[in-house]
Amino acid sequence: MSSLDIAGAVGWIDSFAAAAKAGRDSLTELDRLSGDGDFGDNLASALGRASAALVESPPAAVADVFAAVSAAFLQTGGTSGPLFGMFFRDIARAAATRSELDLETVAAGVTAGLATVKRLGGASAGDKTMVDALEPAADALRSALATGSGVQAALREAAVAAHAGAEETAGLTARRGRASYVGESARGVLDPGAVAVGLFFETAPRERSYP
Ligand code: ADP
Ligand code: MG
Repeated sequence: MSSLDIAGAVGWIDSFAAAAKAGRDSLTELDRLSGDGDFGDNLASALGRASAALVESPPAAVADVFAAVSAAFLQTGGTSGPLFGMFFRDIARAAATRSELDLETVAAGVTAGLATVKRLGGASAGDKTMVDALEPAADALRSALATGSGVQAALREAAVAAHAGAEETAGLTARRGRASYVGESARGVLDPGAVAVGLFFETAPRERSYP
């Protein structure tokens, strides 16, 4: 399958919400070591609200799925709430005229969302933020587009790239966000925002394998 329909997109968000719930304590612990310890709660509550909103007002288009996620993040506290809110708004915008989510749309939305996060937050790759996972994921999606791969295979490549970027944040000293206040003492600690970006791509629907 080379595109995701509404049910596929809702399933993605539900899986992302479940992963955020399962990872809530460990994400909060990462944020406690480098920030103020609210990240797991912020992420799990935003995605829990997004999943509930998608049940209450079933989406009529794939763009509506990401618009609901954006709205839920924009109502959430922390620095990550508004940044993820604007990121998902760009995915919704890229999907606006599409009946299904193909790789071209996902690559365009993630690339635009990355640019928005960088513009609003002022972070570049290497500053120990979500950008360290988003940028390699966006690059992976664009490379996959150039080789003509399907959206699900491309999202798996984006997940691998995002996780690798998140792993690298352990060796970085934060230059943006609350973690920059604690400087060197957060060395060795993964950036929770970057880990969450890895979870987003990892929970994308997989191709079915038929026996
Ligand atoms: P707060 O630090 O306000 O409590 P959260 O805990 O909700 O915010 O989110 C922290 C995450 O936000 C970090 O792990 C990092 O990935 C991301 N972040 C913080 N500042 C920035 C920034 N300026 N640009 C991009 N991402 C950022
Ligand atoms: Mg925090």
